[in-house]
Amino acid sequence: MSTFKTLDDLGDVTGKVALVRVDLNLPMQDGAVTDDTRIRAAVPTINDLCEKGAKVLLLAHFGRPNGERVSTMSLSMVVGAVEKVLGKEVMFVPEIAGPVVEQSVGILRPGDVAILENTRFWKGEEKNDPDLIKAIAANGDFYVNDAFSAAHRAHATTDGLAKALPAYAGRSMQAELEALDKALGNPVKPVAAVVGGAKVSSKLDVLKHLVTQVDHLIIGGGMANTFLAAKGVDVGKSLCEHDLTGTANEILAAADSSGCTVHLPYDVVVSKEFAANPPSLRTCNVHEVAADEMILDAGPAAAEALGDVLKTCRTLVWNGPLGAFEMAPFDAATVALAKTAAALTIEGTLTSVAGGGDTVAALNHAGVAKDFTYISTAGGAFLEWMEGKELPGVAALLV
Ligand code: ADP
Ligand code: MG
Repeated sequence: MSTFKTLDDLGDVTGKVALVRVDLNLPMQDGAVTDDTRIRAAVPTINDLCEKGAKVLLLAHFGRPNGERVSTMSLSMVVGAVEKVLGKEVMFVPEIAGPVVEQSVGILRPGDVAILENTRFWKGEEKNDPDLIKAIAANGDFYVNDAFSAAHRAHATTDGLAKALPAYAGRSMQAELEALDKALGNPVKPVAAVVGGAKVSSKLDVLKHLVTQVDHLIIGGGMANTFLAAKGVDVGKSLCEHDLTGTANEILAAADSSGCTVHLPYDVVVSKEFAANPPSLRTCNVHEVAADEMILDAGPAAAEALGDVLKTCRTLVWNGPLGAFEMAPFDAATVALAKTAAALTIEGTLTSVAGGGDTVAALNHAGVAKDFTYISTAGGAFLEWMEGKELPGVAALLV
């Protein structure tokens, strides 16, 4: 794995100022934080730095204020939630650079924490502007990036600062990079990838990259319909991108030439209406879908066969559910395969890494998210990583 410095590489930082990029883009409703997962993800890094006696300045963005001060997007709103999780007082600083930050640093004692204002209130953040980077860096001694979820952006606080100051990966960033390296960077073979979800068009680059990297590519969800159509299967009224069947065939050919076996379902669960437990529900062979039916899940035989594929593999990377898992019983194949992956992980034969908003929801629904080796909550950054792209925020940390 390409190397980066971690908090273990820090010397004596007593009284030194750490500029720490975290993810505080928290889900909020009526001014209250509804899910503190992202705050909890930052705790190991914050506590580690506090114990080392640093003064911790947290940098984060919230929403899309587009370079303007928008009071409803002020990070002052999350201070209470962060204090609750950390169990101590946190100072709020309504700037990210300049004399106000300098004075605040003077007031902070070693081990204290402050949250600076929403970095996206300044136009220079998203422009990775050298003047802004210099101004922020002037108040810090070193930089820590603990926001993998923002690493696909080359912004001042994700990229520029890492080059302006000695840079370190925080604990969450470190865990994410180590897990991703085990899944696709330097995986134990054979490797399986599950790619599902609604549309091929949203994950074309993921598919193109994966066929060159993995031994088994399992395609599910609405995406499978486009591939089935490309193979001449009549998918009826299923969600299907008929204009992409040519692309699907190219991906199948690329898989073939790089020795990647593509798995598509051969039995499916169909219905005439897009609803939970519909009266027209039935399971059939993929070649028996009627013109007025929709494929909404992989069938039980396919789910079992896919489980058998996982039993022959040592590494799994998963993005996208196998069916419309939000409605019963179209969650069945996703739940079954998730349970198999979890059991193999517990037995120790499989390293399992999953990511994606709906994927994490589906694995939680199956009750197995905790059993996977690693679950990424990074969304866009996770997908760009699955596309094989270099993430600027990660590249900037490499030594
Ligand atoms: P993620 O957020 O994990 O990247 P996606 O957003 O790509 O996943 O896909 C999830 C969505 O795909 C879910 O809303 C699910 O209902 C939908 N989906 C899966 N299979 C089908 C299908 N056969 N027909 C219609 N929608 C489907
Ligand atoms: Mg989604």
